[in-house]
Amino acid sequence: MALHWWIYPLLHTLHFILTSDAARSYPANEVTLLDSMSAPGDLGWVAYPPEGWEEISVMDERNTPMRTYQVCNVMEAYQNNWLRTSWIPRDGAHRIYIEIKFTLRDCNSLPGVPGTCKETFNMYYYESNNNNLWYIKETQYIKIDTIAADESFTQVDVGDRVMKLNTEVRDIGSLTKKGFYLAFQDVGACIALVSVRVYYKKCPLTIRNLAEFPDKVTEGDSSLVEVRGSCVNNSEEYDVPKMHCSADGGWLVPIGRCVCKPGYEEKKDTCQPCRPGFYKASSMDAYCMKCPPHSYSYQESSSQCTCEKNYYRAETDPKAMPCTRPPTAPENPISTTNETSIILEWSPPRDSGGRNDITYNVHCKKCAGDSRRCSVCGSGLHFIPRQFGLTYTKVLVTNLLPHMNYTFNLEALNGVSELSSRPKQYVSINVTTSQAGDAQLNVILKERRSKDSITLAWQGPDHANGVIVEYEVIYYEKNQKDQNYTVLRTKSNSMTVDGLKPGTTYVFRVKAHTSGGHGTYGGEIELETSQEDMLAIGDPNQPTIMAVSIAGGIVLLIFLVTCFVISGRHCGYIKAKQDPDEEKMQFHHGQVRLPGSRTYVHPHTYEDPNQAVRDFAKEIDASCIRIERVIGAGEFGEVCSGRLKLPGKREIYVAIKSLKAGYSEKQRRDFLSEASIMGQFDNPNIIRLEGVVTKCKPVMIITEYMENGSLDSFLRKRDGQFTVIQLVGMLRGIASGMKYLSDMNYIHRDLAARNILVNGNFVCKVSDFGLSRVLEDDPEAAYTTRGGKIPIRWTAPEAIAYRKFTSASDVWSYGIVMWEVMSYGERPYWEMSNQDVIKAIDEGYRLPAPMDCPAVLHQLMLDCWQKARGDRPKFGQIVNILDKLIRNPSCLKTLAIDAAWSGNSLQDPCTPDSSAITTVDEWLDGIKMGQYKENFASAGYTTLDTVVYINSSDLCRIGVTIVGHQKRILWSIQNLHTMANQMHGTHIQV
Ligand code: AMP
Repeated sequence: MALHWWIYPLLHTLHFILTSDAARSYPANEVTLLDSMSAPGDLGWVAYPPEGWEEISVMDERNTPMRTYQVCNVMEAYQNNWLRTSWIPRDGAHRIYIEIKFTLRDCNSLPGVPGTCKETFNMYYYESNNNNLWYIKETQYIKIDTIAADESFTQVDVGDRVMKLNTEVRDIGSLTKKGFYLAFQDVGACIALVSVRVYYKKCPLTIRNLAEFPDKVTEGDSSLVEVRGSCVNNSEEYDVPKMHCSADGGWLVPIGRCVCKPGYEEKKDTCQPCRPGFYKASSMDAYCMKCPPHSYSYQESSSQCTCEKNYYRAETDPKAMPCTRPPTAPENPISTTNETSIILEWSPPRDSGGRNDITYNVHCKKCAGDSRRCSVCGSGLHFIPRQFGLTYTKVLVTNLLPHMNYTFNLEALNGVSELSSRPKQYVSINVTTSQAGDAQLNVILKERRSKDSITLAWQGPDHANGVIVEYEVIYYEKNQKDQNYTVLRTKSNSMTVDGLKPGTTYVFRVKAHTSGGHGTYGGEIELETSQEDMLAIGDPNQPTIMAVSIAGGIVLLIFLVTCFVISGRHCGYIKAKQDPDEEKMQFHHGQVRLPGSRTYVHPHTYEDPNQAVRDFAKEIDASCIRIERVIGAGEFGEVCSGRLKLPGKREIYVAIKSLKAGYSEKQRRDFLSEASIMGQFDNPNIIRLEGVVTKCKPVMIITEYMENGSLDSFLRKRDGQFTVIQLVGMLRGIASGMKYLSDMNYIHRDLAARNILVNGNFVCKVSDFGLSRVLEDDPEAAYTTRGGKIPIRWTAPEAIAYRKFTSASDVWSYGIVMWEVMSYGERPYWEMSNQDVIKAIDEGYRLPAPMDCPAVLHQLMLDCWQKARGDRPKFGQIVNILDKLIRNPSCLKTLAIDAAWSGNSLQDPCTPDSSAITTVDEWLDGIKMGQYKENFASAGYTTLDTVVYINSSDLCRIGVTIVGHQKRILWSIQNLHTMANQMHGTHIQV
């Protein structure tokens, strides 16, 4: 019995649902192989036996037949009705999905049906390469599943009944043949098979991260397939673009990406060309940007903009930077002539060309007196710091020949000067050197003093214009020049001046007379006659024993009396100053040690130097020391690191200096003298002596271990890694150690970064106290004309000229250490020779501020380098100044370079506070140019990053016409970047 009566109304109702269903597009990741609802014409399905499945068609609104199959032989038992689809090509898919929509009558709802009524049917498939099989044995089919109606089906009202439309999806995987057939087996149910859709899944073509990923058919199992994308037009791979296609046809997270090529920017998954007037320089830039000032692009898709005429871009300039031009000539040149040297100074060019990398070259031409014979100056002249590539607007030129006309052409250059074919612009200074014989004689080679006479010897001038005829010596009592002076002449280069007062300071000056004329007097040399009839000998070749023993005798007497009378203590040794000269000074100034104040005791004042070691250094048993590795080389042997474990104490790391084998008794004494000096000190900024090993060999000095070694190499290794405050902290430590030493009347004489040690906490400690160290140990020490060996670059001029070593000369050296620290271990005076350094210092030249050095610190250096030693600060004052800076770091924010140009007094380095500058108005107020706020604002310069490329013509345009104001603004602009970096650790974005 075929129960057609119930299916017709159902189909009409379903018609609407299914046609709208069919109109609905399937998900993009499903590819349909067969859809019974939309297949045109005959489906070609086969049903057998003939009284089983039956095709029933209805027309949709476009008059297309919709084919459905039904069977309802519920009244008879043993049903076996097959409905087989046509051959379905596999189309390369590995896993196939079958979606069936059907209704199934509930047997209970059919009146009078027997118990054989079923509510399920079976689905099968058969794989085949053939598409024209007319018969397949039932046993050849592979069962997919038994299908039953489930409970989640759509409900459809059919007249007074509710029909349920079921949708079931099954899949078959790992297909291998070209195609397959499906079959539906009914075994006695009442079914209407409304639609059958067969499909497979794929990951559909997509664009992600500018890479196109093609369609990808999913795998039969659940594995992921890696798919490589290809970059869209005008883009390039940044990182290989890849995505994984999942088994259910979904793309997973993309990896890698493509980026738009230079000249193109990303818009909606494509790369679009930059418009004219815009550019994109790198594929890494996100967007096209407007051409920077003084450049243009006429074409689409430009990767850079072309500079306007007479404007250029240096190779290293970023493409975003405006095009710039060469600077104008330097301005306001002035010269200060001093005998055979000259200081040239000038102002920066009016127009920097829009750049801040200005340097200066000095070209020199010399003409003999009649101006007809001119030539390039040649290598005879010395330019300090250098002739070409100067970064400061000042140069010292030495070794000029007398009686010459020199022309100095000053040229300003910047990073694009080489690119311009326009003639360079110079400003010239003409200088005529004075007449013959102008050579200074300020280096006294040796002197000998008694109570009423002084013997001087000197060196002839380097560049005398003609044969030296005689020398003229002028001398007078110090501070008495106006009242009385004497002039003496000699043909030799030495002279003994007699008839002098005892214990009186005289000033001597010497000049040469040549066949060409008279020179000028050299620098002043102050010498003092002795109090008593004794010799003070400067020449190391002279016998010294007498002088030392007489001077020693006096000192010994004074201090013996001092010991007994003032302190009342027992003295097993004589307390004296470290240097016979110093002793004398101290004696003259009446400085007597006060009770309770500690004074350094010179080991040589002991008759038995071993006693000094015993008094000041603890003897350590060698078995307590474990040497681990060599860390350096000292004058007397290796320096090792190791551990010291004293009974009842914690093990500590130590440095161990040992005296190499085969030493003489003097070497042993000198070696141990360092311990007997160091052992007297107890200060956190002085290297601490742990003890000595003298009872067995090798003899050793044990000190605390300083993990970071010497300060100079430590800073060079960590160039730029510290904050200014950290550097000031280190300087403070050194100054505090030196204050302690000077309070103890100890003069170091070789204070330099190489003689400061740094521990693991960056604490700096003064070291190197050996007696012979300056003479023998320091590779920087050089012989002076007076025979002593002195580290010239670190030493005060009076100590070089006549060995006047005092705490004030240590302060000079401290200034050099400050410079070394702020420049991270740069060599003072760079590659200049020692002789040039002496000369330059005498001419008044001082080291410029290191890069990024706060103005206040450079000022302190300059104070330490005052020519008159009495004008230099004391170590106690230096510590106080540094303490104030540490407490008030805003004082460190004005850099030396800014202070020099902003016109701020260096005495008042705390204003203005450039760190606070965040707006154009604040900046203008800070440089006292607040009157131009409106001009800047109305010209559109509203943020700091817009002002950094302003040049002088821009300033004219916006109404800043006064040249001085322009200069002030332009220099401040140059420093805006530096300030921003220094103060905030950030960059102004341009
Ligand atoms: P000196 O003979 O004192 O000049 O020492 C030579 C080198 O040994 C120094 O430059 C340091 O590198 C190293 N040195 C000396 N003393 C110490 C110490 N206490 N801690 C760490 N290294 C040291």
